[in-house]
Amino acid sequence: QKAEWKKLKNAASTTADGKQVILGANIGTPDDVQGANDNGAEAVGLFRSEFLYMNSDELPSEEEQFQAYKAAVEGMNGKQVVVRTMDIGGDKELPYLPLPAEQNPFLGYRAIRISLDRQDIFRTQLRALLRASHYGKLAIMFPMIATVQEFKQAKAIFEEEKAKLVADGVPVSDDIEVGMMMEIPAAAMIADKLAKYVDFFSIGTNDLIGYSMAADRGNERVSYLYQPYNPSILRMIKNTIEASHAEGKWTGMCGEMAGDQVAVPVLLGLGLDEFSMSATSILKTRSLLKKLDSAKMQELADKAVNECETSDEVVALVEEYTK
Ligand code: PEP
Ligand code: MG
Repeated sequence: QKAEWKKLKNAASTTADGKQVILGANIGTPDDVQGANDNGAEAVGLFRSEFLYMNSDELPSEEEQFQAYKAAVEGMNGKQVVVRTMDIGGDKELPYLPLPAEQNPFLGYRAIRISLDRQDIFRTQLRALLRASHYGKLAIMFPMIATVQEFKQAKAIFEEEKAKLVADGVPVSDDIEVGMMMEIPAAAMIADKLAKYVDFFSIGTNDLIGYSMAADRGNERVSYLYQPYNPSILRMIKNTIEASHAEGKWTGMCGEMAGDQVAVPVLLGLGLDEFSMSATSILKTRSLLKKLDSAKMQELADKAVNECETSDEVVALVEEYTK
């Protein structure tokens, strides 16, 4: 089986009936680009920028960040690299940036909320990203966007920094896509409004499922509620994808669910454009896609969203449609 997967390294990600999607890798440092390429990644769908902030005794400088982003886009040889801006807070702490103790860190001061508050940190990161955009195909997304206002504010700051660099004669790419993570249920419900402003969505199911079911996967007493295939989650995914397509935009997924072999047939049927996962899952997912008929998976997805009542029913339906 592994030998068969290896042959697909340079193949397109195509279904049995010829529908093409993108299979990308999630990476945590520029060194991970090697593994992405070795496993046939067509893009980096999520570059978590946290390592720059975590593996350090102080805030990373613009230059240090620039070198890391440049290395990643250069290493991908023109394939798109989606860098997510700082997603600190929640469970991720920084020794040099004391955050207030909170009753509910996961409902608190984290990610884009910190970036919009500490614009000094945010602007430094955006400048590094803008400078790196000249060396490959770089895209940017903001984590934990809940409202239209937040996205507009973050995008406006991006545009300000871009204009400053251009005025200073610094080379900057003119086609940087700017999107957002879809990982808060409130945002998924107004995906049609957000779709007017973003270039793309990337669904962060790790957080989206937790916030939707109000259940922490790590807490064994409630982890049974962490249900990726629950029709409620599928409906939010469907809403997001359809809203993006209505505006001529695309939707990817960078949560664990994107590489889940039970979920992939449903996600394909829902029209997901890009699946980003750990590099080691790419080839087996490409192999699975080759066996799937996209029209049939659309029928599966419709049933899962409209007729199924439970997660178990969705799993049974997937088995029936893929056996
Ligand atoms: C997610 O929430 O699905 C996601 C990809 O972000 P992270 O796992 O880094 O929170
Ligand atoms: Mg997340």
